[in-house]
Amino acid sequence: MTPTTLNQQPVNDANRLGLDYRAEAGRFGYTGPIIDIHTHIGTLDAARLYFEIAELFGVTKTVSMTKLENIDAITDEYGPPGDRIEFIAVPNYEAAREPGTFTTDWLHRIEKFREKGCRIIKFWAAPRGRDLHDEAFLMDSPLRKESIRLAYDLGYRIFMTHVGDPDTWFEKKYTDPAKYGTKADQYRPLEDLLSEYHDVTWIGAHIGGSPENLDFVQGMLDRHPNYIVDTSAAKWQVRELSKRPERFRAFCENNPGRVVFGTDIVANIGNIDFDLYASRYWALRTLIETDYEGQSPIVDPDLSMVDPSLDEKSTAQLRGAGIGGQTLEMLYHTAADKVLG
Ligand SMILES: [Zn+2]
Repeated sequence: MTPTTLNQQPVNDANRLGLDYRAEAGRFGYTGPIIDIHTHIGTLDAARLYFEIAELFGVTKTVSMTKLENIDAITDEYGPPGDRIEFIAVPNYEAAREPGTFTTDWLHRIEKFREKGCRIIKFWAAPRGRDLHDEAFLMDSPLRKESIRLAYDLGYRIFMTHVGDPDTWFEKKYTDPAKYGTKADQYRPLEDLLSEYHDVTWIGAHIGGSPENLDFVQGMLDRHPNYIVDTSAAKWQVRELSKRPERFRAFCENNPGRVVFGTDIVANIGNIDFDLYASRYWALRTLIETDYEGQSPIVDPDLSMVDPSLDEKSTAQLRGAGIGGQTLEMLYHTAADKVLG
Protein backbone atom coordinates (compact mmCIF):
# COMPACT_ATOMS: atom_id res chain seq x y z
CA MET A 1 0.00 0.00 0.00
CA THR A 2 1.53 3.29 -1.08
CA PRO A 3 0.31 6.49 0.58
CA THR A 4 -1.48 8.80 -1.87
CA THR A 5 -0.87 12.00 0.07
CA LEU A 6 2.96 12.19 0.18
CA ASN A 7 4.26 15.73 0.75
CA GLN A 8 0.79 17.23 1.08
CA GLN A 9 1.11 18.42 4.68
CA PRO A 10 3.76 20.35 6.66
CA VAL A 11 6.63 18.13 7.74
CA ASN A 12 7.31 17.50 11.45
CA ASP A 13 8.94 14.80 13.58
CA ALA A 14 5.74 12.72 13.53
CA ASN A 15 5.22 13.28 9.83
CA ARG A 16 8.42 13.39 7.81
CA LEU A 17 6.52 12.23 4.74
CA GLY A 18 4.06 15.13 4.83
CA LEU A 19 1.11 12.70 4.87
CA ASP A 20 -2.51 13.70 5.26
CA TYR A 21 -3.21 11.17 8.02
CA ARG A 22 -6.92 11.90 7.92
CA ALA A 23 -7.10 10.78 4.29
CA GLU A 24 -4.70 7.87 4.78
CA ALA A 25 -6.74 6.54 7.72
CA GLY A 26 -9.57 5.69 5.35
CA ARG A 27 -7.40 3.61 3.00
CA PHE A 28 -6.69 0.55 5.13
CA GLY A 29 -8.25 -2.71 3.96
CA TYR A 30 -9.39 -3.80 7.42
CA THR A 31 -12.56 -2.02 8.52
CA GLY A 32 -13.56 -4.04 11.60
CA PRO A 33 -13.21 -2.98 15.24
CA ILE A 34 -9.85 -2.36 16.90
CA ILE A 35 -9.05 -2.33 20.61
CA ASP A 36 -6.01 -0.30 21.67
CA ILE A 37 -4.92 -1.98 24.89
CA HIS A 38 -2.00 0.34 25.71
CA THR A 39 -2.35 4.12 25.83
CA HIS A 40 -1.68 6.99 28.22
CA ILE A 41 -4.61 9.41 27.92
CA GLY A 42 -3.74 12.07 30.45
CA THR A 43 -6.45 14.74 30.48
CA LEU A 44 -9.89 15.46 29.04
CA ASP A 45 -8.51 18.02 26.53
CA ALA A 46 -6.03 15.48 25.20
CA ALA A 47 -8.74 12.79 25.24
CA ARG A 48 -10.96 14.90 22.95
CA LEU A 49 -8.34 15.03 20.19
CA TYR A 50 -7.25 11.47 20.87
CA PHE A 51 -10.78 10.06 20.43
CA GLU A 52 -11.26 11.97 17.18
CA ILE A 53 -8.14 10.31 15.78
CA ALA A 54 -8.85 6.89 17.29
CA GLU A 55 -12.20 6.90 15.52
CA LEU A 56 -10.60 7.80 12.18
CA PHE A 57 -8.38 4.73 12.53
CA GLY A 58 -11.18 2.36 13.55
CA VAL A 59 -10.42 2.14 17.26
CA THR A 60 -13.60 1.25 19.13
CA LYS A 61 -12.16 0.78 22.60
CA THR A 62 -9.15 2.23 24.40
CA VAL A 63 -7.39 1.00 27.50
CA SER A 64 -5.51 3.81 29.20
CA MET A 65 -3.08 4.53 31.99
CA THR A 66 -4.63 7.73 33.34
CA LYS A 67 -3.97 9.59 36.57
CA LEU A 68 -6.61 8.60 39.12
CA GLU A 69 -7.79 12.19 39.57
CA ASN A 70 -8.51 12.62 35.82
CA ILE A 71 -10.67 9.54 35.30
CA ASP A 72 -14.03 11.07 36.20
CA ALA A 73 -13.73 14.00 33.78
CA ILE A 74 -12.99 11.60 30.93
CA THR A 75 -15.72 9.09 31.78
CA ASP A 76 -18.28 11.89 32.21
CA GLU A 77 -17.78 12.64 28.51
CA TYR A 78 -16.84 9.26 27.04
CA GLY A 79 -19.06 6.87 28.93
CA PRO A 80 -18.57 4.56 31.89
CA PRO A 81 -15.31 2.61 32.22
CA GLY A 82 -15.39 -0.55 30.12
CA ASP A 83 -17.48 1.00 27.37
CA ARG A 84 -15.31 3.15 25.12
CA ILE A 85 -12.45 3.54 27.56
CA GLU A 86 -11.14 1.42 30.41
CA PHE A 87 -8.35 2.28 32.82
CA ILE A 88 -5.15 0.71 34.07
CA ALA A 89 -4.03 1.50 37.62
CA VAL A 90 -0.73 3.38 37.73
CA PRO A 91 1.26 5.39 40.29
CA ASN A 92 1.11 9.19 40.22
CA TYR A 93 4.17 9.80 38.04
CA GLU A 94 3.52 13.58 38.10
CA ALA A 95 4.64 13.47 41.74
CA ALA A 96 7.66 11.25 41.03
CA ARG A 97 9.96 13.32 43.23
CA GLU A 98 7.68 13.41 46.26
CA PRO A 99 8.31 10.88 49.02
CA GLY A 100 5.65 8.21 49.22
CA THR A 101 4.62 8.39 45.56
CA PHE A 102 5.87 4.89 44.80
CA THR A 103 5.32 3.46 48.28
CA THR A 104 2.40 4.45 50.53
CA ASP A 105 0.59 6.59 47.95
CA TRP A 106 0.85 3.86 45.31
CA LEU A 107 -0.60 1.23 47.66
CA HIS A 108 -3.44 3.63 48.44
CA ARG A 109 -4.07 4.27 44.73
CA ILE A 110 -4.25 0.53 44.01
CA GLU A 111 -7.31 0.48 46.29
CA LYS A 112 -8.79 3.70 44.87
CA PHE A 113 -8.50 2.57 41.24
CA ARG A 114 -10.19 -0.68 42.19
CA GLU A 115 -13.05 1.25 43.80
CA LYS A 116 -13.51 2.95 40.41
CA GLY A 117 -14.02 -0.45 38.82
CA CYS A 118 -10.48 -0.83 37.50
CA ARG A 119 -9.46 -4.44 36.70
CA ILE A 120 -6.06 -3.91 35.15
CA ILE A 121 -2.87 -2.76 36.85
CA LYS A 122 0.54 -1.92 35.44
CA PHE A 123 3.77 -3.03 37.07
CA TRP A 124 6.32 -0.97 35.19
CA ALA A 125 9.84 -2.37 35.53
CA ALA A 126 12.00 -0.61 32.95
CA PRO A 127 15.66 -0.46 34.06
CA ARG A 128 15.48 3.36 34.13
CA GLY A 129 12.96 2.99 36.98
CA ARG A 130 16.00 2.54 39.24
CA ASP A 131 16.72 6.25 38.68
CA LEU A 132 13.32 7.12 40.18
CA HIS A 133 13.30 4.76 43.16
CA ASP A 134 15.75 2.10 44.41
CA GLU A 135 13.18 -0.57 45.03
CA ALA A 136 9.76 0.22 43.60
CA PHE A 137 10.44 -0.82 40.00
CA LEU A 138 12.34 -4.05 40.65
CA MET A 139 10.10 -7.03 39.97
CA ASP A 140 11.55 -8.95 42.94
CA SER A 141 11.70 -6.24 45.64
CA PRO A 142 9.64 -6.66 48.84
CA LEU A 143 7.82 -3.41 48.05
CA ARG A 144 6.87 -4.61 44.56
CA LYS A 145 5.78 -7.97 45.91
CA GLU A 146 3.57 -6.24 48.48
CA SER A 147 1.86 -4.17 45.77
CA ILE A 148 1.31 -7.22 43.56
CA ARG A 149 -0.17 -9.18 46.47
CA LEU A 150 -2.47 -6.28 47.35
CA ALA A 151 -3.68 -5.98 43.75
CA TYR A 152 -4.34 -9.70 43.59
CA ASP A 153 -6.22 -9.73 46.90
CA LEU A 154 -8.35 -6.78 45.73
CA GLY A 155 -9.37 -8.76 42.65
CA TYR A 156 -7.24 -7.36 39.81
CA ARG A 157 -6.75 -10.21 37.35
CA ILE A 158 -4.96 -8.46 34.48
CA PHE A 159 -1.40 -7.34 35.17
CA MET A 160 0.48 -5.35 32.55
CA THR A 161 4.27 -5.21 32.78
CA HIS A 162 7.05 -3.39 31.04
CA VAL A 163 10.15 -5.52 31.39
CA GLY A 164 13.24 -4.83 29.29
CA ASP A 165 13.81 -1.94 26.91
CA PRO A 166 15.25 -1.74 23.39
CA ASP A 167 18.51 -3.62 22.81
CA THR A 168 19.86 -0.28 21.59
CA TRP A 169 19.35 1.20 25.09
CA PHE A 170 21.26 -1.63 26.73
CA GLU A 171 24.07 -0.84 24.28
CA LYS A 172 24.08 2.93 24.75
CA LYS A 173 22.15 4.03 27.88
CA TYR A 174 22.30 1.20 30.40
CA THR A 175 26.05 0.90 30.20
CA ASP A 176 26.44 0.17 33.94
CA PRO A 177 25.33 -3.47 34.35
CA ALA A 178 25.98 -3.29 38.12
CA LYS A 179 23.17 -0.72 38.30
CA TYR A 180 20.77 -1.80 35.57
CA GLY A 181 21.56 -5.49 35.01
CA THR A 182 21.71 -7.08 31.59
CA LYS A 183 18.64 -7.42 29.41
CA ALA A 184 18.38 -11.13 30.27
CA ASP A 185 18.53 -10.29 34.00
CA GLN A 186 15.28 -8.33 33.69
CA TYR A 187 13.23 -11.42 32.83
CA ARG A 188 14.13 -13.85 35.63
CA PRO A 189 11.97 -12.25 38.34
CA LEU A 190 9.13 -11.84 35.81
CA GLU A 191 9.18 -15.56 35.07
CA ASP A 192 8.89 -16.34 38.80
CA LEU A 193 5.85 -14.03 39.06
CA LEU A 194 4.21 -15.51 35.95
CA SER A 195 4.37 -18.90 37.69
CA GLU A 196 3.33 -17.61 41.11
CA TYR A 197 0.31 -15.66 39.75
CA HIS A 198 -0.66 -18.25 37.17
CA ASP A 199 -4.38 -17.38 37.26
CA VAL A 200 -3.69 -13.77 36.28
CA THR A 201 -3.41 -12.69 32.62
CA TRP A 202 -0.09 -10.90 32.26
CA ILE A 203 0.38 -8.52 29.32
CA GLY A 204 4.03 -7.98 28.37
CA ALA A 205 4.09 -4.49 26.88
CA HIS A 206 6.04 -3.77 23.70
CA ILE A 207 6.12 -7.40 22.40
CA GLY A 208 7.26 -8.38 25.85
CA GLY A 209 10.12 -5.88 25.57
CA SER A 210 11.93 -8.02 22.99
CA PRO A 211 10.75 -7.42 19.41
CA GLU A 212 14.44 -7.86 18.54
CA ASN A 213 14.23 -11.53 19.51
CA LEU A 214 10.89 -13.19 18.78
CA ASP A 215 12.39 -16.63 19.52
CA PHE A 216 12.97 -15.48 23.09
CA VAL A 217 9.40 -14.11 23.35
CA GLN A 218 8.13 -17.43 21.95
CA GLY A 219 9.91 -19.25 24.79
CA MET A 220 8.17 -17.00 27.33
CA LEU A 221 4.79 -17.67 25.71
CA ASP A 222 5.45 -21.41 25.63
CA ARG A 223 6.52 -21.58 29.26
CA HIS A 224 3.68 -19.37 30.55
CA PRO A 225 0.16 -19.89 29.16
CA ASN A 226 -1.04 -16.85 31.18
CA TYR A 227 1.34 -14.49 29.33
CA ILE A 228 0.40 -12.41 26.27
CA VAL A 229 2.15 -9.47 24.59
CA ASP A 230 1.05 -6.14 23.13
CA THR A 231 2.38 -4.40 19.99
CA SER A 232 2.87 -0.98 21.57
CA ALA A 233 5.70 1.56 21.11
CA ALA A 234 5.51 2.49 17.43
CA LYS A 235 9.09 3.63 16.82
CA TRP A 236 10.57 0.59 18.51
CA GLN A 237 8.28 -1.95 16.83
CA VAL A 238 8.63 -0.35 13.39
CA ARG A 239 12.42 -0.30 13.67
CA GLU A 240 12.77 -3.91 14.81
CA LEU A 241 9.82 -5.83 13.33
CA SER A 242 10.40 -4.26 9.89
CA LYS A 243 13.75 -6.07 9.77
CA ARG A 244 11.92 -9.42 9.55
CA PRO A 245 8.25 -8.78 8.72
CA GLU A 246 7.64 -12.39 7.62
CA ARG A 247 8.94 -13.60 11.01
CA PHE A 248 6.54 -11.23 12.78
CA ARG A 249 3.63 -12.49 10.65
CA ALA A 250 4.48 -16.13 11.47
CA PHE A 251 4.78 -15.20 15.16
CA CYS A 252 1.24 -13.76 15.14
CA GLU A 253 -0.13 -16.72 13.15
CA ASN A 254 1.50 -19.23 15.51
CA ASN A 255 0.22 -17.52 18.68
CA PRO A 256 -3.47 -16.80 18.18
CA GLY A 257 -4.90 -14.89 21.12
CA ARG A 258 -1.46 -14.13 22.54
CA VAL A 259 -0.66 -10.90 20.64
CA VAL A 260 -2.89 -7.86 21.20
CA PHE A 261 -2.86 -4.46 19.55
CA GLY A 262 -1.57 -1.45 21.49
CA THR A 263 0.12 1.81 20.56
CA ASP A 264 1.55 3.48 23.70
CA ILE A 265 0.14 6.82 22.52
CA VAL A 266 0.81 9.44 25.19
CA ALA A 267 -1.92 12.11 24.97
CA ASN A 268 -1.40 14.76 27.61
CA ILE A 269 -1.18 18.48 28.30
CA GLY A 270 1.84 19.74 26.39
CA ASN A 271 1.53 17.33 23.46
CA ILE A 272 -2.01 17.75 22.13
CA ASP A 273 -0.99 17.15 18.54
CA PHE A 274 -2.93 15.58 15.67
CA ASP A 275 0.07 14.21 13.77
CA LEU A 276 1.66 12.80 16.93
CA TYR A 277 -1.29 10.54 17.75
CA ALA A 278 -2.27 9.82 14.13
CA SER A 279 1.28 8.81 13.16
CA ARG A 280 1.29 6.02 15.76
CA TYR A 281 -1.91 4.49 14.37
CA TRP A 282 -0.79 4.94 10.77
CA ALA A 283 2.67 3.42 11.35
CA LEU A 284 1.52 0.45 13.43
CA ARG A 285 -1.42 -0.41 11.17
CA THR A 286 0.86 -0.09 8.12
CA LEU A 287 3.42 -2.36 9.80
CA ILE A 288 0.86 -4.97 10.78
CA GLU A 289 -1.59 -5.24 7.89
CA THR A 290 -0.02 -3.85 4.69
CA ASP A 291 2.81 -4.69 2.29
CA TYR A 292 4.24 -1.14 2.45
CA GLU A 293 8.00 -0.82 1.99
CA GLY A 294 9.45 2.62 2.55
CA GLN A 295 10.42 5.18 5.15
CA SER A 296 8.54 5.40 8.43
CA PRO A 297 7.10 8.91 8.84
CA ILE A 298 8.30 9.10 12.47
CA VAL A 299 11.73 10.41 13.51
CA ASP A 300 13.48 7.67 15.51
CA PRO A 301 16.26 9.11 17.72
CA ASP A 302 17.61 5.61 18.41
CA LEU A 303 18.97 5.47 14.86
CA SER A 304 21.38 8.38 15.30
CA MET A 305 22.11 7.31 18.90
CA VAL A 306 23.46 3.98 17.62
CA ASP A 307 25.11 5.48 14.54
CA PRO A 308 26.09 9.13 15.18
CA SER A 309 26.93 9.58 11.49
CA LEU A 310 23.18 9.48 10.77
CA ASP A 311 21.05 12.60 10.67
CA GLU A 312 19.14 13.30 13.91
CA LYS A 313 15.92 13.34 11.91
CA SER A 314 16.43 9.84 10.51
CA THR A 315 13.42 7.58 10.25
CA ALA A 316 13.43 3.79 10.21
CA GLN A 317 12.67 1.62 7.21
CA LEU A 318 9.08 0.38 7.54
CA ARG A 319 8.19 -2.97 5.97
CA GLY A 320 4.65 -4.25 6.39
CA ALA A 321 3.99 -7.80 7.60
CA GLY A 322 0.81 -8.14 5.51
CA ILE A 323 -1.15 -9.88 8.27
CA GLY A 324 -4.77 -10.55 7.28
CA GLY A 325 -7.81 -12.72 7.85
CA GLN A 326 -8.47 -14.27 11.23
CA THR A 327 -4.95 -13.57 12.48
CA LEU A 328 -5.54 -9.85 12.00
CA GLU A 329 -8.97 -9.94 13.63
CA MET A 330 -7.49 -11.85 16.54
CA LEU A 331 -4.73 -9.28 16.95
CA TYR A 332 -6.98 -6.24 16.54
CA HIS A 333 -9.88 -7.24 18.77
CA THR A 334 -10.79 -10.89 19.37
CA ALA A 335 -7.89 -11.60 21.70
CA ALA A 336 -8.39 -8.39 23.70
CA ASP A 337 -12.14 -9.01 23.86
CA LYS A 338 -11.40 -12.37 25.46
CA VAL A 339 -8.92 -10.92 27.95
CA LEU A 340 -11.17 -8.01 28.91
CA GLY A 341 -14.23 -10.26 29.08
ZN1 LIG B 1 3.22 2.76 27.90
